[in-house]
Amino acid sequence: MNPTCVPLVVKVSEAATVIVGIPNIGLSTCVSGSDEKISFEIAAENLIWSRLSYIGIYNDQDSYDMLMSDLFKEEDGRLVFCESEEPRLPLLRFKKIWSILKRRESDSVLEDVLDGKEVDKEDLKAAVDAENKKASLLDDVVFSSLKPIGQLTDAELLNRYSPESSSEVVEELLRRSKGRPFVAFSSERDGKIDQEITLRMLKESRKREMPIHYKVSDALYRLFVAGVFPSQVFYECPVHKGVLLLDGYCDECGHSWEGVDYKACQFVRLIVELGQCPKERPSLRQLIADARSCSSDDMNALELDYPNVAAVFRERCEEDKLPSLRSRTASSEASHVSDPFNVRTKPRF
Ligand SMILES: [Zn+2]
Repeated sequence: MNPTCVPLVVKVSEAATVIVGIPNIGLSTCVSGSDEKISFEIAAENLIWSRLSYIGIYNDQDSYDMLMSDLFKEEDGRLVFCESEEPRLPLLRFKKIWSILKRRESDSVLEDVLDGKEVDKEDLKAAVDAENKKASLLDDVVFSSLKPIGQLTDAELLNRYSPESSSEVVEELLRRSKGRPFVAFSSERDGKIDQEITLRMLKESRKREMPIHYKVSDALYRLFVAGVFPSQVFYECPVHKGVLLLDGYCDECGHSWEGVDYKACQFVRLIVELGQCPKERPSLRQLIADARSCSSDDMNALELDYPNVAAVFRERCEEDKLPSLRSRTASSEASHVSDPFNVRTKPRF
């Protein structure tokens, strides 16, 4: 059986770092093997374990309790670490090790305080420091996630910014940047944001118009408006402007546009823009079916039902001015706040 006491193992390994780097204490005589650094660390730990064993401290819970009790006094430690056989530890290194070994966990110190027991001043100070540190870490992590979006610092807000972030985050960034481009990607393809440059550009964007490109050292960054991720392209529903398709499906239509040719989708959008889109479900379903039967060279099904739209379509096609259904924004409302054709609310019959 080989009992292990985790808190003691942790302390010994921390204590080992106190002596691992110092020359001339003879650790090298204990080292063998090719990887010197690891071997020195193991040698240092072994040394501490071996000296502790001289006074009856092993790797088990009973030993740990004894070590933490008043039974184990500093002079006992000094005797085995500094005054017995080689290698002997320098006194100050031993004192550091001693303080690590005897350090009480902050919760046990605070428990004693609550129980009205007397505690060592240094222990109490260390415990309070440790608790404060924990609390401030907690502050950073938890409270920033609870803070209203408007109260987050720029950095906190940017930390939350990703293609998946909520529309509030995007809106707040748009507000702070006055809708100007400021987001720089360290990798546009992976959608990885360069936090440092983006933070600086966000501050700039509050005060002035922003360029489309920003050059720092030799790297050229494109700057993007909040909500735009170059790695992602979304498609809008041809009928419902501003509504993004999810796997081809439009919630407003209640139909999937999956597999419909992109040009046919553009034709449908033109029908909408010219105010000729049917509102009744069966007619809408028919329109989608027509669009589905079209291909980029054969728009017959749509052209037959919407001859005047077909004329405009051909015209726009030649001018390369067909409506775009590609959207670079993950937030469906961000880029199309208004719906100029009012297709969602007002039937046109
Ligand atoms: Zn739709």
